[in-house]
Amino acid sequence: MADSSTPTHPGLRNVQRILAVSSCKGGVGKSTTSVNTALSLARYGLRVGLLDADVYGPSLPTLLRPASPQLFQNEEGLILPLEIHGMKVMSFGWIDPEQQRGPAILRGPMVSQVVSQLATRVEWGDLDYLVIDFPPGTGDIQLTLTQQLPIDAAVIVTTPQQLSFVDVVKGIQMFDTVNVPTVSVVENMSYFQCESCGEKMRIFGEGARKQLIEQFGFTHTMEMPLDPRLSAMSDAGTPMVLESPEDPVSQLYYELAERVHGEINRLQSEEAGIPTLSYNVGQNCELTYPDGRIIEINPFELRLACKCAECVHEFTGEQLVKAEDLDPDVYPEAITPVGRYAASVKWSDGKCASIYPYHYLEEKFSSPDA
Ligand SMILES: [Zn+2]
Repeated sequence: MADSSTPTHPGLRNVQRILAVSSCKGGVGKSTTSVNTALSLARYGLRVGLLDADVYGPSLPTLLRPASPQLFQNEEGLILPLEIHGMKVMSFGWIDPEQQRGPAILRGPMVSQVVSQLATRVEWGDLDYLVIDFPPGTGDIQLTLTQQLPIDAAVIVTTPQQLSFVDVVKGIQMFDTVNVPTVSVVENMSYFQCESCGEKMRIFGEGARKQLIEQFGFTHTMEMPLDPRLSAMSDAGTPMVLESPEDPVSQLYYELAERVHGEINRLQSEEAGIPTLSYNVGQNCELTYPDGRIIEINPFELRLACKCAECVHEFTGEQLVKAEDLDPDVYPEAITPVGRYAASVKWSDGKCASIYPYHYLEEKFSSPDA
């Protein structure tokens, strides 16, 4: 959640929640995801604003096509956002129409300054959500933005390509450094659905989703189909969820909006329970939940439960390291939380980089009668 010491910005006074939509690379459908997610949130009766913070290639002017993109200021000098399809929207492309053609010639530090001014000097008014379509990347610009703006949660957009898992983890970690939880990873162009038989063809392979669930304990992923209509509608300025609200693809966006909203609610509620894994010399490891519940785990059993590529075969799932291969007195030398989902353990035997998703530990070690 946003740091409580973050100063209140004039334009953001009455904004309840800020959701960042981010991607490691351009061209993965981040803006299409932002627009359709924002419109889906609005469909549930929530008051939604959408900021196109991509100063290098503002896309809202194309995606939403306002009739008259003329901006006005109020008496406080704050810019009044445009109102389109029931949302308040703002894009750098409307401030400087030159930017709609050709790339911006702004340098890094200026970019984050321009973007945070864009967010804070606009009179957003009463909003349940401000969705910010982030500039692509996980560099200084993006990090500065996450520090300057009171962002509540992030959605990371990716496509199923070889290095996408590493990219997504980089994105999750960037938001983690400022304590902003990633509430969903959206994999665009994930599959192509056969029109006659309905079969999902994964032409680009499995993508990061499976790996995120298995290795990182991150379960909030969504898959979007490769659907030529999506980009065609975006290019025409008629987003999918408006043009074809009953379409199965639109339904996926509603589901995404629902999940994001639900997850943010869950995290903000008091029961949000991120456990801590600890070890005291000579005793069992303990997975302690904020409500006081404790799951005890024998250090040797925990060591044996390592799921790294050296212990468990990546594709067959075969157990490669057996109990007899391990030091019976093995113990954790260091335990470090990995985001909100897992803990990494450095072992006394010096082998393995073990990452244990909390949900995996809970499933494996909580006794059924507890
Ligand atoms: Zn291992």
